[in-house]
Amino acid sequence: MLHYRFKNLKMKKISILIPCYNEEASLPLLYNELVKLMDSHTNYAWEVLTVNDGSKDRTLEVIKDLRKKDNRICYVDLSRNFGKEKAMLAGFDYVTGDCMVIMDADLQHPPYVVNEMITKWEEGYDDVYAKRKSRGKEPWLRKQFSLFFYKILQKTTKIEILPNVGDFRLLDRKCIESLKQLRETERYTKGMYCWIGYRKTAVEFEQQDRQAGQSSWNFLSLLSLAIEGIVSFTTFPLKIATIVGIFTSLCAFIYMIYVIIKAILFGDPVSGFPTLLSVILFLGGIQLLALGIIGEYIGRIFHETKGRPVYIVRESVSYTHLRAHETSQ
Ligand code: UDP
Ligand code: MG
Repeated sequence: MLHYRFKNLKMKKISILIPCYNEEASLPLLYNELVKLMDSHTNYAWEVLTVNDGSKDRTLEVIKDLRKKDNRICYVDLSRNFGKEKAMLAGFDYVTGDCMVIMDADLQHPPYVVNEMITKWEEGYDDVYAKRKSRGKEPWLRKQFSLFFYKILQKTTKIEILPNVGDFRLLDRKCIESLKQLRETERYTKGMYCWIGYRKTAVEFEQQDRQAGQSSWNFLSLLSLAIEGIVSFTTFPLKIATIVGIFTSLCAFIYMIYVIIKAILFGDPVSGFPTLLSVILFLGGIQLLALGIIGEYIGRIFHETKGRPVYIVRESVSYTHLRAHETSQ
């Protein structure tokens, strides 16, 4: 018995983190796949932490039912829908494993890839990210937009943010602890993985199509995530505003000299109204744009200075909780 306990203590634990929003249909399918994965690695202890991100369907009931069957399933139930980024932070706070694999609930991230991730982790890598070979079924415009966004982000930030890499990855405890320290409310987690550094390596996988339910992202929410990514990782747009400002005032200065000389040489008949109007409109536009850019940053300062918690938990059953419960019986 003692020997068994000792062995159990030494056993490394792998946590699987699954943020869920309206995933009642996908979860049972995912669970079946995960059981296969967990049963093929009995040399590790496993924990599956689902974060219910204020789902409007029966997701929580489905999770609770699964837990009745299998107490490796743990859950954190958030008080409302906070969005995937925040739900993931809740997950980082609650996972107890020596490492953690983040996965979508919709089976777009095939669990068999985790085998390869574990091998890399055992080789000593801290962050094993999954790189999509292809992007799966996706509208053409969305794809172009996404690639363009990564190009901008890569050019403007000093850290390397990789395209075709998402949240599907294995992170060592070291990375989890670092990520837990980044507690901004406006989150762009994909950038954070790169920001924290550590030893990284890639495994490739073929992105699957969503098995059930609906994607909760639309073009607008992706656009706002893209702005989030840029604004939260670089102050480069502010620099653009400065550069455009310098450039236009330079042009205006040259034009002013031209107007003065013209007036001295040829007099000043009242004309040039269209020129005046277009210049005023043009400058007005640029000023509004610059204000908008500054506003994006001020908005973020506003949100961060409030110092609110990033998420609120309604109920949680975590691994430690489970152990306490077990020993009290
Ligand atoms: N998700 C979440 N909160 C949200 C939206 C999504 O936790 O507000 C979860 C969702 O349940 C899924 C993952 O984030 O497990 C990815 O979402 P989705 O499949 O809708 O995104 P896509 O794959 O289209 O990028
Ligand atoms: Mg998906």
